[in-house]
Amino acid sequence: MTITFPPTAEAAEWIRCARCGEIVYGKRFTRDLGVCPGCASHTRLTARQRIEQIFDDGSVRAIEAPPTLEDPLGFVDSRPYPDRLREARAKTGMDEAVLCVRGTIEGHAAVAAAMDFRFMGGSLGVGVGARIVAAAEVALVEQVPFLLVTASGGARMQEGALSLMQMARTSQALAELDEAGILTIAVITDPTYGGVAASFATLPDVILSEPGAHIGFAGPRVIEQTIGQELPCGFQTAEFLRAKGLIDDVRPRAALRSTLARLCSLRKPAERAPAAEPVQLVFQPERLPVRDGWTAVQLARHADRPTTLDYAGYMLEEFVELHGDRLSGDCPAVVGGLARLGGRPIVFIGHQKGHTTRERVERNFGMPTPAGYRKAARLMRLAAKLGHPILTLVDTPGAYPGIEAEEEGQAWAIAENLRLMSALPVPVVTVVTGEGGSGGALALGVANRVLALSNAVYSVISPEGCASILWKSPAAAPLAAEALRLDARELLRHRIVDGVIPEPGEGAHADPAATARLLAAAVSEAFEDLAIHEPRKLIAERRQRFRQYDARPR
Ligand SMILES: [Zn+2]
Repeated sequence: MTITFPPTAEAAEWIRCARCGEIVYGKRFTRDLGVCPGCASHTRLTARQRIEQIFDDGSVRAIEAPPTLEDPLGFVDSRPYPDRLREARAKTGMDEAVLCVRGTIEGHAAVAAAMDFRFMGGSLGVGVGARIVAAAEVALVEQVPFLLVTASGGARMQEGALSLMQMARTSQALAELDEAGILTIAVITDPTYGGVAASFATLPDVILSEPGAHIGFAGPRVIEQTIGQELPCGFQTAEFLRAKGLIDDVRPRAALRSTLARLCSLRKPAERAPAAEPVQLVFQPERLPVRDGWTAVQLARHADRPTTLDYAGYMLEEFVELHGDRLSGDCPAVVGGLARLGGRPIVFIGHQKGHTTRERVERNFGMPTPAGYRKAARLMRLAAKLGHPILTLVDTPGAYPGIEAEEEGQAWAIAENLRLMSALPVPVVTVVTGEGGSGGALALGVANRVLALSNAVYSVISPEGCASILWKSPAAAPLAAEALRLDARELLRHRIVDGVIPEPGEGAHADPAATARLLAAAVSEAFEDLAIHEPRKLIAERRQRFRQYDARPR
């Protein structure tokens, strides 16, 4: 059955923006998806408008609503609850505050539950909970992504503790999708508060929002009254939550559909994979030149060497960068997200430096905070859930040594990743692309296959750090670099890496595109080799790889 919406009332000929006062031609306002052309204010949409904006025309089918008990408490405030329900139904043409459908987004199947704030403030009652659970079950049976578009003041008071229980009931439905490896996505829209924010809105794997949307648990007035202070500008906005690492991204409405389509497309391998070029990995140390350690360090740190995001641009298809650790912040020195490599869906993570001084400062010189390691951990857990292999690129002088980093548990965050990576049920491949500095590097490097580019280095400490401690002078860094045996030939000799990817010509800095092609080919080959293994075998093999370290070089 195709869903039939009541005909839309003709859009008013002229609309005045409630924020900036600009008068907009009604048809233009509709064409702009309800975004003011003057101030970019994202106005609230109905559930139906949401579905129409996101899904392909003609693809949408309604998911039948399960029967629910209405007015379970016989609730009356200034008016009986059934009166309010009747009024909401007449006003919205909906039977409840959520519209659940299945359909396609740019051809990719998905199930969605979209809330409508006009229906009693989008409140979560038994009917809403039941519809969301029913929709989640359709996503589970059909094995397609589940999208939740939220707009709600919270749980519905008129249904008492029965509405409170819907928070647990819907969260449970999401837990079942997690167990089944089904991608879940939230689009949290303005406003989303209370019991909806504290359940299905914030549990999905990927959380997107729109510019200026207000999201939180307690409403701003309640907070102000409780603490007796005025709230800072921008408090509880999508931008604020993005900076706090609590959501993945803020997307303008015009970019939402394509982002969702891309995410939904990443659950299956591409039908046609681009052909990888052959690569000759080096496995014997004697096939690499003997050279001075300090020269290797200088090359590994070359400002024109490709960064992790450069590699992403060259070698990934459909990369969607995800942000935040869902706890404390978004570290700019670790980047990652969902993507395809050679047609294969993967999770991609790496340290991020920059080329210019400004970029390097913005990326904290590639030195992650605990939020960076926790973001990486979150993405690795997502890979485990979805069954996607993981590629990590290592390029850091080390974890950031700072006051806040210590306060937030830098050591704990690194240790957690070492343990987490040793138990991941999916293939993990690491490539040391530049500097592999200390525990901050290894926290992304507990892999089934560890490769290095031929001008990369990997070491227990930076040469400068080692020189200050043992030579009592940072000027002795070249001596320390030599003593640490940190270049590709030595790494291969000590089996720290399993293979070396020869860089073209003068090195990666001289030809980033060719380097990326070689890197992609080497990683694809490793994934191909590992794809045949069961999760248990992958874990056992990885543990064995790191158990082998003793004092005997080859
Ligand atoms: Zn405006």
